[in-house]
Amino acid sequence: MAMTKFSAPSDAVARRAVAPVICYPTETLPQPDLALYRAAREGATKTGEVLVRARDALCFEVPAGHFFRITSVGGPQVGDLNLWNRSDLSERFYSGKTRALHGTHITTGDRMWSSFPHMRPMATIVADTLDWYGVDPFGGSVHDVIGTRCDPYTGNLLAGTQYHHCCHSNLTRALADHLRIPLTEAEPHVHDVLNVFMCTGFTRDTGQYFMKASPVRPGDYLEFFAEIDLLGNLSACPGGDCSSEHSSDVASCHPLLVETFAPEEGSLSGWESPAPSGYDRTHGR
Ligand SMILES: [Zn+2]
Repeated sequence: MAMTKFSAPSDAVARRAVAPVICYPTETLPQPDLALYRAAREGATKTGEVLVRARDALCFEVPAGHFFRITSVGGPQVGDLNLWNRSDLSERFYSGKTRALHGTHITTGDRMWSSFPHMRPMATIVADTLDWYGVDPFGGSVHDVIGTRCDPYTGNLLAGTQYHHCCHSNLTRALADHLRIPLTEAEPHVHDVLNVFMCTGFTRDTGQYFMKASPVRPGDYLEFFAEIDLLGNLSACPGGDCSSEHSSDVASCHPLLVETFAPEEGSLSGWESPAPSGYDRTHGR
């Protein structure tokens, strides 16, 4: 942090004491019908699974109205999740707006929102076995939308490395393989992630992004309801539980399991896949 260069005004204490206001009060935010989702999940049947290998990524597809669950298997491991509209990759997860609406970390009842001009819920979290963690004394919590994704460009900038198994590269390869497109075509579609199971925050003194050992244990899971037809892409981060470093092969890493489930016929009566934003897009012209 830079040294202070300017002197404080005489009423600095009073200015600092002004209470904050929430940027986006959520009272008017459309709420998911979690009871309906839970009832639909009760009678759901498993339709498939993929096992994401350590330091690698895999794509999976989830139809609107179905569920997907990400489970820690084998050992503590964090995952970097990208989501797209299955039939239109220009609609993708918007971590910044999700953060503005739900806060730095998301849990049961929160949504993963899509990019402009669509801006609708892509997925709703319906179960989170780590919801007991809350916020720790360092200000850390689990499942953040404040990080980006570990990537080879930052590693190159800070350490001059050429490391190829950062989440950014894993997600790029997996998307290229899934869509049978070249890496150069796949890479621009990779975007800022939901950091599944990752325990992070900002330091109180310098405001820096920090990580610490994830509290995740084998068997822990995060489960979602797909609000629209989804293409998902999950990377098992080379940081493992992110207790020390990422962007290298040093940390001990484990696979992550993704399972999909179809609800029982008729169990979602009254639910409709959300329409894109109602803003008319004339932008004042
Ligand atoms: Zn990563």
